[in-house]
Amino acid sequence: MPEPPALLLLGGSTEAAALARVLAARRRWAAVLSLAGRTVRPAAQALPMRVGGFGGAAGLADWLRAHGVRVVVDATHPFAARMGANARAATAACGAALLRLERPAWVAGTGDRWTAVPDLEAAAEALGPAPRRVLLTTGRELEPFARRPWHRYVVRCIEPPAGLPPGAELVLARGPFTPEGERALLRERGVEVLVTKNAGGDATAAKLVAAREAGVAVVMVARPQRPEVETVRDVAAALRWLDRKEALLF
Ligand code: NAP
Repeated sequence: MPEPPALLLLGGSTEAAALARVLAARRRWAAVLSLAGRTVRPAAQALPMRVGGFGGAAGLADWLRAHGVRVVVDATHPFAARMGANARAATAACGAALLRLERPAWVAGTGDRWTAVPDLEAAAEALGPAPRRVLLTTGRELEPFARRPWHRYVVRCIEPPAGLPPGAELVLARGPFTPEGERALLRERGVEVLVTKNAGGDATAAKLVAAREAGVAVVMVARPQRPEVETVRDVAAALRWLDRKEALLF
């Protein structure tokens, strides 16, 4: 395990991987990257890595103390709400500093036909009682859609889900995606509605461009609530924050 100044980077997002690369190159912090372990074959990472849950906020606080961690950067995915709350509680309990790195949410523009919903259950409900051809890009939690089997679903995931809604077609693919590819997917499958989480970022935004052009409706699942934490929106800002913190702490 690294010697102080120790930093824990909570990963699982594109930004976390990018920050890990810069931290590894700079060597100013003895940083460890933590992944939940959901992805069977995670991409190679630049930093020393640990994998798996800590055992809630208390387990995370124990880990921070045991490894002399002074700074935690929570760069988990915008939809990983529990880890955000755990990071807040654990850093408060052991006096470590906490920064949230979170890319901005997507915002509807001219020509977009978005329906905003708070969660996946509401997204499935928003599809309505009449059968529609639906592209689901919300990950492996498909149960709310399986309970509405009258729609024809195309499910796009990075890794295979445990089960599919009846009659659904599975498309396994990992972004980034291009507008051309997304246009073809919508056209070839005759998609009428796209369901997506408001992940933000460029890697998966092409589907929104394609939906706008094709007049495809979008059901947009809003981000979950997170605790109030000092937040930056990109890696450059996170590095500036870390430079300031380093000057203060060491
Ligand atoms: P979550 O609800 O916030 O976390 C559930 C539990 O997983 C946490 O309580 C924690 O277990 C463990 N965990 C989460 N992130 C971790 C990390 N970076 N290192 C170690 N343990 C972690 O998150 P989730 O929605 O299940 O997502 C799991 C991971 O996948 C996150 O790291 C996230 O960045 C990534 N991800 C999520 C989504 C999404 O849409 N939810 C999309 C892409 C990537 P303990 O309480 O035992 O510590």
